[in-house]
Amino acid sequence: MDAVTLVLLLSILLQLAAVGIALRQVLEWPKLRWAWGMVTAAFALMTLGRILILGSHLEQGPGAGVVLEVEIIGLFISLFLVVGVAQLGPVFTQITRSEAQLQESQRAMSALMKNLPGMAYRCLNDPHWTMEFVSEGCVALTGYRPEELIGNRVISYAELIVPEHRQQVLENVQRAIAADEPFQLVYRIRTAQGEEKWVWEKGSAVRDAQGKVIALEGFIADITERCQAEELLRKTQDELEKLVAQRTAELDRTNRDLMQFVYTVSHDLQEPLRMMSTYLQTLRGSLKDRLQPTERSLLDLSAEACQRLQRMIQDLLAYSRAGTRGIYFEPVDANQVVQEAIQNLQAAIDQTGAQITLDPLPEVTADATLLLELFQNLLSNAIKFHAKDRSPKVRIFCQQQDDEWLFGVQDNGIGIDPDAIERIFLIFERLHPEEEYPGTGIGLAICKRIVERHGGRIWCQSKPGEGSTFYFTLPKRMPDTARQRENVGF
Ligand code: ADP
Repeated sequence: MDAVTLVLLLSILLQLAAVGIALRQVLEWPKLRWAWGMVTAAFALMTLGRILILGSHLEQGPGAGVVLEVEIIGLFISLFLVVGVAQLGPVFTQITRSEAQLQESQRAMSALMKNLPGMAYRCLNDPHWTMEFVSEGCVALTGYRPEELIGNRVISYAELIVPEHRQQVLENVQRAIAADEPFQLVYRIRTAQGEEKWVWEKGSAVRDAQGKVIALEGFIADITERCQAEELLRKTQDELEKLVAQRTAELDRTNRDLMQFVYTVSHDLQEPLRMMSTYLQTLRGSLKDRLQPTERSLLDLSAEACQRLQRMIQDLLAYSRAGTRGIYFEPVDANQVVQEAIQNLQAAIDQTGAQITLDPLPEVTADATLLLELFQNLLSNAIKFHAKDRSPKVRIFCQQQDDEWLFGVQDNGIGIDPDAIERIFLIFERLHPEEEYPGTGIGLAICKRIVERHGGRIWCQSKPGEGSTFYFTLPKRMPDTARQRENVGF
């Protein structure tokens, strides 16, 4: 076989391969069937041409018209054709896939735009906000159709913004663009039907490769209902606050009136009582030898009742003072206050052999006089209500909580029946007879008043027979200045 025959045979084989590959593309790409069919036919014709040349070469023999160099070039062309056609397949696959993806994302995008409860836009960065594109939500939002807004055909978007907001909106957008930040705005628009709506807008600038702003893109949503609901909530809140303030003031007034009444009555009662007590003593002294034992004991009982009444009046005055006296909040070292309370109770401590331990206490914002009264009442109770078989042990501690201090006064005394724990903070509520544990039942009511005037809470945990712990809180923050120097005292 001579060289020309070999080259021609190879060319024919390669061209047949090209025909085969092109034919496969016809079957794989129905959309491009015509184009690939033409390519297949062209390759088939080229192959036929080669076959005819081979036939004539074989018939006429070497040197009869067929030039080897030309056929070698033809062979290379055939080779390129095969490689080219084989490469085109994947490229087409990629193109078709991208096209399908593009169509899908366009479909998804337009579905999203249609269903968005608002309007997406692209506009020029000019004072009219000339729209280049607006989504269909434009109709529901503004009452205008997209084609009426695009290119400012009927109205520009800037004209929809109510005049009192327009300038501010434009300035805010320009400021955000200058800072290369997205903008977020809330303003009112007037729709085609003349209705006013509150809208929320978020957008940003679109820049070209040189950083020049070529458009603005963003989204605008109707928030009228939310704004109306917020407005209603604000109004209701304001009204509620006013009502609460009004009721609190009324309550304060009634409370003060009541306290004033308690104070006046107690104060006015003191004098006649003192006189009664003096007369009783004088009577007892002058009738000393002439009195029968029963008469003497009746006089003694009357004198005792007088004294008890005097104690009660004293406590009532203290209670009324705790609620009404001027209060002055200042930084107070709780350690010092407790030490002072201990000193004041030294006689009772010595008498009962009480042991008092003190954890390190903080500096608090409080009225020093009221705080002393509070600790003194709690300590005095902790000592007074001790069990008969053991001497009192009292511990005072404090824990820091988020925005308040939690104080505790713990004793090992007789404890309190859980059912009575709520009651003991009420005025004149006592769980024991006077003969067993003396007192008037006002101490804890005073404590409650003091703690509440400081904005805190007071409560008790106890196990009968084992002891009690009285807890109270004091806010760390100074109460507002209006109440700091409130002075309604007598
Ligand atoms: P008073 O001490 O004058 O009775 P308080 O108001 O201080 O009045 O206390 C009311 C009642 O609460 C007391 O009578 C007592 O029964 C009970 N109580 C108060 N503190 C304690 C305590 N530490 N242990 C047990 N009982 C207590």
